Amino acid sequence: MKESIYTIPLSEAYDTTDECPFCHLERQVEQRTIRYTIGPGASYMEPEVRAATDKEGFCGAHFKKMYDYGNSLGNALIMQTYFVALFEEMTREMDGFQMPGKRGLFSKKSDTEESSLVKWARQKQGSCYICNKIEYNMERYAETFFMLIRDKDFRAKVEGSKGLCMRHFLRLMEVAPNKVPNDQREWFYTTIFRLMRENMARVKGDLDWFVDKFDYRNASADWKNSRDAVSRTMQKLQGIYPADPPYKSEPR
Ligand SMILES: [Zn+2]
Ligand SMILES: [Zn+2]
Repeated sequence: MKESIYTIPLSEAYDTTDECPFCHLERQVEQRTIRYTIGPGASYMEPEVRAATDKEGFCGAHFKKMYDYGNSLGNALIMQTYFVALFEEMTREMDGFQMPGKRGLFSKKSDTEESSLVKWARQKQGSCYICNKIEYNMERYAETFFMLIRDKDFRAKVEGSKGLCMRHFLRLMEVAPNKVPNDQREWFYTTIFRLMRENMARVKGDLDWFVDKFDYRNASADWKNSRDAVSRTMQKLQGIYPADPPYKSEPR
């Protein structure tokens, strides 16, 4: 089997008891990327990295994580040069802007068409250097998954796992038609569907018991596996770790 830098982390993610091994991988990639972007290696001082962040920008969720990570000066420097290009582009868009005609019965079609300014602003808002890096890596992990399931031991790990969250279930289902090996087609769909059914039902059961525990008659009953049912259910539904503390730079 062809080994790649994705093989071992993927296999190790399946050694954890995570509700979704792909969430586990994604968190790893995200933290590594945040650390690379704003961390002690100061990659943001390298011209080609800065050119990329100037071009791609950051989404709100990742700005928040960069802020939490720490390194205000690094964040300021990254935003300072991003701002220069943004300002130039914005000025160009506003200078070339065609004000829409007054709304009325005889509005021209062109008046309701989306302006280049709106398209530009939307593109800016929707683009993120860190999201792009995560997306690139998660695509490779999904492809690697379909390579690894040719291996009997890996298939056994998958069979013993807790399935996937809905977000990563979607990802595998999207990629599967083009990537699943013919002789594992049957195994793949049967196994993943079984895992999804069983584990969604298990998490729902934990959630139900969490709610029932608030009934005074159950006050002294055991929590069983329900203490963290809310965060695990949120993970199953959206592939997030709401209970994680902010990822921060190590104190020096
Ligand atoms: Zn997931
Ligand atoms: Zn992002």
